[in-house]
Amino acid sequence: MKMTFKFRAKPTKTEEQWLFAELRHQKQLQNYMLQMRSQMWDYGRKSVSMYDQINHLKALRAATSHYSDHSQDMQVSTIKRVSAAHDHFQRRCREGAEKKGYPRYKRSVRSLTWDLRKYTKVLRKKTKDTEKQTIRVRQNPIRETGTRYNGLKVPKLGEVKIRQHRRIVGDPKEVTLKKTTRGWYCFIVCEVPDTIRCVPKSACGVDVGTHDFLTTSEGKKEGNPRFYRTAERKLSKLHRALSRKTYRSKRWYKAKDALAKQADIVACQRLDFIAKTVYGLFHHKGFDAVIAEKLKPSNMVKNRHLAKSISDASWGMFFDWCHWVAKRDGKHFHQVPPHHTSQTCSHCCQKSPIKLKLSERLFHCQFCGLKLDRDHNAALNILHRAACALRGEVWDTILYETRNPLLQQACWS
Ligand SMILES: [Zn+2]
Repeated sequence: MKMTFKFRAKPTKTEEQWLFAELRHQKQLQNYMLQMRSQMWDYGRKSVSMYDQINHLKALRAATSHYSDHSQDMQVSTIKRVSAAHDHFQRRCREGAEKKGYPRYKRSVRSLTWDLRKYTKVLRKKTKDTEKQTIRVRQNPIRETGTRYNGLKVPKLGEVKIRQHRRIVGDPKEVTLKKTTRGWYCFIVCEVPDTIRCVPKSACGVDVGTHDFLTTSEGKKEGNPRFYRTAERKLSKLHRALSRKTYRSKRWYKAKDALAKQADIVACQRLDFIAKTVYGLFHHKGFDAVIAEKLKPSNMVKNRHLAKSISDASWGMFFDWCHWVAKRDGKHFHQVPPHHTSQTCSHCCQKSPIKLKLSERLFHCQFCGLKLDRDHNAALNILHRAACALRGEVWDTILYETRNPLLQQACWS
């Protein structure tokens, strides 16, 4: 599996100028390679492969210093990017998608990517008795300095200072330097061996909502921080300021940056909250398996009364993180069908004939008289569904409909 480590980079003014020049060059190369593909097709019905373009680049590098002055690894990565975009376009054409989406010419690119090359490392020198031992490893992109900042090796430039707040693990494969509104960041992609999944001994059902962010099957709740709602006034003020500036004037760019910064702060707050919540579920509360509903937030936001709250809660991101953390730490994450989890009684499995409104927070069963918090009841149902599915050895499908009494018996036995 692949893990990406993100660190803050601190290039100096001169280094930053070099990086901007490199970004411009990569943009030109990307557009040129795209144009080459489309023109070859338009005039000669010839398709160009990634390897053709890499060979073409070699010829260009031999011919002119305009290309050979720049890093070849970065140029090859750019060609790979164009090729990937083109492959996706062709896939969409094959599938007959409504929007084919031909790759666009870029006005600017924001990131520089390069693959790390392998080199031969001598493990043991040749002696009288033993043979020489070598392995092929990738070079470590980071040089440790023992100070606050370590050095990131950038091809053709040298070292750029990075704040490495944690050690990288695994085999580093690819490095990306990216410019955002809040500065430069570097991303190091490492290949890490897969973790063996544990045998689950404790499981927890989780019901996500807009009132409380999540409720577990044990009845514990996590409040919804509503980061967007809290920052909404600030954001609207910045939006208004931007709309009053002359388009593309100096002040317009300043206002645009301020707005982007604030939006980024909200995104970071959300990410931090979700990462901590997910880690807490698996590690602090010690659950081996977490079960949630298989919701489709992209469909749910079509309800215009709830769209903002649902987007702000970012359930999709929460599910992604659960999935990813479980994979990384050898735990389990499963999703069950979400139908009627809040309308069904977790005690007698009967579905309530009257639909519970969203504002009613208490579930009252008409059949067995159970009175329980609405979300807690739903979380219990989710856990039951997963348990039923586990007995059928498939987690992801409906095996037992809770409304069917015959299946209920099988479910509870
Ligand atoms: Zn009941």
